[in-house]
Amino acid sequence: MRPISHEPAGYSCPFCRLQRDEFNDRNQPTDVIAVTDRAYARIAPKWWPGNPGAALVVPRGHIENLYTMPPDDGHAVWDLTQRVAVAMRDAYGCDGTSTRQHNEPAGNQDVWHLHVHVFPRYTDDRLYQRHDHARWIGVSERADFAHQLRSALAMPVTFG
Ligand SMILES: [Zn+2]
Repeated sequence: MRPISHEPAGYSCPFCRLQRDEFNDRNQPTDVIAVTDRAYARIAPKWWPGNPGAALVVPRGHIENLYTMPPDDGHAVWDLTQRVAVAMRDAYGCDGTSTRQHNEPAGNQDVWHLHVHVFPRYTDDRLYQRHDHARWIGVSERADFAHQLRSALAMPVTFG
């Protein structure tokens, strides 16, 4: 069987670091919007121009990709993805939502811990035509949107 891991040796995983309270510009406690036993959701550190306030849902455990995802973790991620999409619709007043999830470099994966993108969608936002226009978002701009989703979700936001 072909190897299914692309994680480099000694990889420092940002989604695991956030759970250990190791913070930097792209990983702040104000980014966390919901935590369950097996999954958590955070505001994304990078947004596309027509879709501000995008979020990521990840398993708590360090699982690289969909191929190796234990079913219980997969269920937890999908359940939380649903809640985040509903919260986004209520909090942002967006016209729709989209999810996407990437596996392996050929699938555009670039963080080696599985994550589901949840995007607020707006009529004619051209999300899929503007793939190269994403930008990194500052801490306070992320916190504003995270606060809206936290309020809509009313779920735990700490890892303890
Ligand atoms: Zn990880």
